[in-house]
Amino acid sequence: MKVCVVGADGRAHVLAQVLGRTAEDVVVCPGSPGIPGSLPADPLDVDADLFVVGPEQLLVDGLADRLRARGRLVFGPGADGARLEGSKRWMKAVLADAGVPTARSGAFTEAQPAIDLLRQLGPPWVVKTNGLAAGKGVLVTESLAEAEDDVRAKLSGVAFGDAGRTVVIEEGMVGPELSLLAVCDGTTAVPLAPARDHKRAFDGDAGPNTGGMGAYSPVAQAPPDLVDAVMDRAVLPTLHALRRRGIDYRGVLYAGLMLTPEGTKVLEYNIRFGDPEAQVVLPRLSSDLTALLASAACGRLGDDPSFGDDAAVTVVCATEGYPGAPRPGDPIAGMAEAEALDGVTVHCAGVGAGPDGGLVTAGGRVLDVTALGPSVAEARRRAYEAVGCISWPGLHHRTDIAIDEQIAVDEQTEHDQQEVQW
Ligand code: AMP
Repeated sequence: MKVCVVGADGRAHVLAQVLGRTAEDVVVCPGSPGIPGSLPADPLDVDADLFVVGPEQLLVDGLADRLRARGRLVFGPGADGARLEGSKRWMKAVLADAGVPTARSGAFTEAQPAIDLLRQLGPPWVVKTNGLAAGKGVLVTESLAEAEDDVRAKLSGVAFGDAGRTVVIEEGMVGPELSLLAVCDGTTAVPLAPARDHKRAFDGDAGPNTGGMGAYSPVAQAPPDLVDAVMDRAVLPTLHALRRRGIDYRGVLYAGLMLTPEGTKVLEYNIRFGDPEAQVVLPRLSSDLTALLASAACGRLGDDPSFGDDAAVTVVCATEGYPGAPRPGDPIAGMAEAEALDGVTVHCAGVGAGPDGGLVTAGGRVLDVTALGPSVAEARRRAYEAVGCISWPGLHHRTDIAIDEQIAVDEQTEHDQQEVQW
């Protein structure tokens, strides 16, 4: 089977690698100078047996529909299902319809009623863009004044353009976070291994939200019945709520979860593989990813996927000032040294070709340094050793990716035994 992965980032890179274990041929469209098999073409002009669409914006814009209209087999929802990520307001309505526990919220196009709701709520205050904002449209703050200013900036269009002209105010929740990605065939779904990502820019979960600064899998802190509970109480009811709306959802349904003192709640749904969660979940797969995604795209999912015992950790290397505007064109050094280390793969996220043929920075998140190992602690050690090989002026990475997991395993926290409550 020939597979076309649509994307140009670290997620596209890891998808191509893991699909390449079993597919006859994999192209990445458009890809990048750092991703083998890249084909800088319009995916509509590419001939392949299966298309796997990575980026949410393309799905929201209906790429999967256009490919299907040409008779292509596609893994990725149409624009109707992609609204789950394209409109937080709509996502909240679907969650309510499906009876899925989530934070209470309100959606607003005017500042005053939004601010009135903020003033009724306690900290942390949460202000979200309704539309897509590359993971950066969520403010969580302990300052009511900052939240109010953020409402005005988002609604004015200054901060996030049209994505912010509707804002969603949410009740602030606290608790550890987890991601569970499920593969859906329109009617049913199978889970992948849970992962945890780190969304804030700086160590200690400080600074602004980003597209993601690192991730790890498995998550020992996940209660043992978490996967079954999330499938039964969130993913499958959501799939059925979509069907009731006439939506045949074939693709990833990614549940962002918070383990709150009142039980597990869905923070958000994404409609595609997480980036960088894909980098830690997919390499751990011991079953056939090509067959899994093709069967979902055909509407005929079979057995649950299986995972090996190795853990994976990925550390994102970003440009100075990320999530602010990146500085492109800095030469990247040390990738070969990093990849020579045991268990290490470097996934190219935002890279371009320099004048001398080497790779240069070309995005906020530049490289995802991923390591496999017999434990999260060892995978983490390997990943950071590899990060130490890599350099460009202003390279920024967090130093505490997966450290919470290491501490949790060391201390055997009570989360290990905790039951999932809803
Ligand atoms: P989202 O893109 O909606 O998942 O939000 C990005 C991040 O913001 C989440 O991973 C959480 O860390 C944080 N967040 C989102 N919603 C809430 C909430 N209601 N309460 C507390 N933190 C939140």
